[in-house]
Amino acid sequence: MTRVTAAVPDWLAEARQICVLTGAGISTDSGIPDFRGPQGVWTRDPEAEKLSTLQYYVADPDVRRRAWQARLAHPWHALPNAGHAALVDLERQGRLRALVTQNIDGLHQAAGSSPELVVEIHGTVHDVVCLSCGDRTTMRAALDRVVAGEPDPACLRCGGLLKSATISFGQELDEQVVEAATAAVQSCDVFLAAGTSLGVWPAAGLTEIAARRGARVVIANAEPTPYDDIADLVVREPLGTALPRLLAPRD
Ligand code: NAD
Repeated sequence: MTRVTAAVPDWLAEARQICVLTGAGISTDSGIPDFRGPQGVWTRDPEAEKLSTLQYYVADPDVRRRAWQARLAHPWHALPNAGHAALVDLERQGRLRALVTQNIDGLHQAAGSSPELVVEIHGTVHDVVCLSCGDRTTMRAALDRVVAGEPDPACLRCGGLLKSATISFGQELDEQVVEAATAAVQSCDVFLAAGTSLGVWPAAGLTEIAARRGARVVIANAEPTPYDDIADLVVREPLGTALPRLLAPRD
């Protein structure tokens, strides 16, 4: 049953084990564009999708050069916003079971969410990994090399290809991370998807798992998603006001 409503239902106000799945839409108010929204990176430049596709990244040095330039242009100064803060407050209320995020920007932790509760299902942009030997170093060090004149810096240990420690399309997710997300979803009373088009698997499938296990489903997103029909509550309001309102403690 889908209801688009401004009122906060009792079952949400009384929920004690809320599992939240966030997507790029929670960070747009911080100045980080999403991919598929009206102002999204891919909406404006469909070619940009190649930068996030492993097959192209590995095969094409030009794609890698563009990917490093895109990382340089990332708004590294971005600060968390009211949506992130509402989730920190939910944790303080003792009602957050887990915060599964598709985001790679680290803004949940920057806002104050506990690292133990944040599950970064698509990795982080703050580290880089060698695709050959797995050596993990900081993005800052790699970008310093790009600025110093290496357009496509190679692994300093083995010479392999370096890539941000994010999950690209065509790249396997970390099994343990997926298991942690699935376990959290299976034991929540409310599943809240916020700022995600729910178009990327397996993250999107968490919605169905939660519903099948009997959790209420809330979808807060500016645009329709493929899961709106199974949601108990659909909210289209911007997240900067929607999350503080939906997750406020009841007196
Ligand atoms: P998406 O781009 O597919 O969808 C984002 C959704 O958020 C859109 O439907 C858009 O309408 C909605 N939205 C944007 N701003 C909003 C706001 N203020 N209030 C309410 N809704 C808003 O993003 P996705 O589903 O997360 O999937 C894209 C993939 O790319 C994910 O892996 C994601 O993590 C990654 N990505 C991450 C970042 C980041 O870390 N900030 C940015 C871009 C893409």
